[in-house]
Amino acid sequence: MTDSTKTLCPYCGVGCGLEVSPPAALGKATNRDSQGTPIWKVRGDKSHPSSQGMVCVKGATISEPLTKNRLRYPMVRDSLNEEFRRVSWEEALEKIADRIQTVRLSQGADAICMYGSGQFQTEDYYVAQKLMKGCLGTNNFDANSRLCMSSAVSGYVQSFGSDGPPCCYEDLDLTDCAFLIGTNTAECHPIVFNRLHKHCKQDRNAKMVVVDPRRTPTAEAADLHLAIRPGTDIDLLNGIAHLLMRWGYVDTQFIDDCTANFPAFAEVIQHYTPEVVARKCDIQIDDLETAARYWGESQRVLSLWSMGVNQSSEGTAKVRSIINLHLMTGQIGKPGAGPFSLTGQPNAMGGREA
Ligand code: SF4
Repeated sequence: MTDSTKTLCPYCGVGCGLEVSPPAALGKATNRDSQGTPIWKVRGDKSHPSSQGMVCVKGATISEPLTKNRLRYPMVRDSLNEEFRRVSWEEALEKIADRIQTVRLSQGADAICMYGSGQFQTEDYYVAQKLMKGCLGTNNFDANSRLCMSSAVSGYVQSFGSDGPPCCYEDLDLTDCAFLIGTNTAECHPIVFNRLHKHCKQDRNAKMVVVDPRRTPTAEAADLHLAIRPGTDIDLLNGIAHLLMRWGYVDTQFIDDCTANFPAFAEVIQHYTPEVVARKCDIQIDDLETAARYWGESQRVLSLWSMGVNQSSEGTAKVRSIINLHLMTGQIGKPGAGPFSLTGQPNAMGGREA
């Protein structure tokens, strides 16, 4: 018997497992903050598969807002000029149902929509869809996660015919070469980064390459930081592909068995010589060659990216360029390797699939 409840941190795409327990429990000292106010206690859930008991400062302090000025009951106002007033849950729900019914009867079900987020759990999505589609009769339900990672979705679909990232968190512990592009993982997905960084420190042969115009905390931890000119990601990726091709780091068996139109791709990348790419990206040829060598010499390459790629111009083409590197070298479909889009919210995939 335990007085704690298992739940998830809702803040970022890692979705760390948490155990929370109330401020006071019989026979135990009351949990208090530094001002002496009783607060809920939060710790990492050691049995959680992705976070393994780790939490970052955001998750560890998640209970603090509970004691602050939060909305704890429904409040309504009939016009924007009025002050909010507290109402009962019955009154609030009745108002919502009445309003929906009025719109449905006067303008039709398609005049109603619901917009969710990647913080919904899959079960929440399911119930929301039931309400919108089964009960009200409209398909107008979507979640912000579709927009958030739509470039990754389109890139995966165009390359693979399916939008699921073909990787998992265990790959972080197994990779020889982590290639991070358009992602400040250390600050935006801290527990993913901690896990990867720990692995790279333990395995001295594992390399971390970070592609980012800024010198972020993620870049600080890299073996190689490529501070490319903003917007030249595809030049860089095709430049690496050019060198991999030139140096013979291609998996011809995988290309024959699992890809299509490789000659057309080879024709494109032959124009991305190191001289051209270094000039366009504003990086040293040596650094470009080092990145290509790390990729080519590794047994298991894991690329990681997030909104620096997904929410940029030509985002889908950038995703496909990353995936092309994996396909030409057969760095996919095995432990520690693959193209891994890091989502911004813990249940981004669920939002699109429910
Ligand atoms: S890494 Fe993300 S999900 Fe995990 S505790 Fe920090 S903010 Fe929450």
